[in-house]
Amino acid sequence: MRKKLVAGNWKMHGNLKENEALLGALIAGLSEPENKASYAVCVPYPYLTLTQSKLRGSAIKWGAQNVSQYEKGAYTGEVSVSMLNDFGCEFVIVGHSERRMLYGESNKMVAEKYLAAQHAGLIPILCVGETLEQRDSGTTKQIIDEQLKAVISLAGVDSLADAVIAYEPVWAIGTGKTATPQQAQDIHHFIRLTIAQQNAEIASDLTILYGGSVKANNAAELFVMPDIDGGLIGGASLVAEDFIAICQAAN
Ligand code: PEP
Repeated sequence: MRKKLVAGNWKMHGNLKENEALLGALIAGLSEPENKASYAVCVPYPYLTLTQSKLRGSAIKWGAQNVSQYEKGAYTGEVSVSMLNDFGCEFVIVGHSERRMLYGESNKMVAEKYLAAQHAGLIPILCVGETLEQRDSGTTKQIIDEQLKAVISLAGVDSLADAVIAYEPVWAIGTGKTATPQQAQDIHHFIRLTIAQQNAEIASDLTILYGGSVKANNAAELFVMPDIDGGLIGGASLVAEDFIAICQAAN
């Protein structure tokens, strides 16, 4: 039985005061000991110290939104997996569509980041998803297959035993246009089937999140679908009561 996961992606939002208050509100709202789901927040790098000190011992895990594929060296502005380890990160998002589109991250680069994260004991949240043009031209499954295969060919299918996949249709991210539960389920099922062709057990145990304008009022109908194991939440993760309500929908 897969456990649901709700992970917040704060992106480049907040400041010290706001983020401290947000963490405090999340701790207070998500302290029920009978929680069935897991929760996490992926915060901007400068707030990892704060996040670690506030969330240690709470029901909420934490992580980062990106990481270098390189171990160390002359990579100005980059952050390594061992640096994330220093701050107790459990998760790191790799291949978010904003990284792919705005910063030119290729399938190969995303696969390298995924592998680097796993080598350091971090759980990569691997984002895959199609643009509107790709959906309209009927290439959604082909695009997602290529995104998955790049990772599987570098890291092996067994690596997915220690990873999370997030299906995030690009047209639904930050647009308020959520995929319908059935649209999302169809692609989640496709992802699981694609992986099952190589390892049925890993596919059946794999956590696949949906991301793209998940809100308090649509989370439950998405999370009830058989192949949707929770959500990667952008905008709504910045408002404590909304994120808590989405977490409760996963319970
Ligand atoms: C995201 O950035 O991963 C995301 C899903 O954003 P939003 O929830 O705002 O669409």
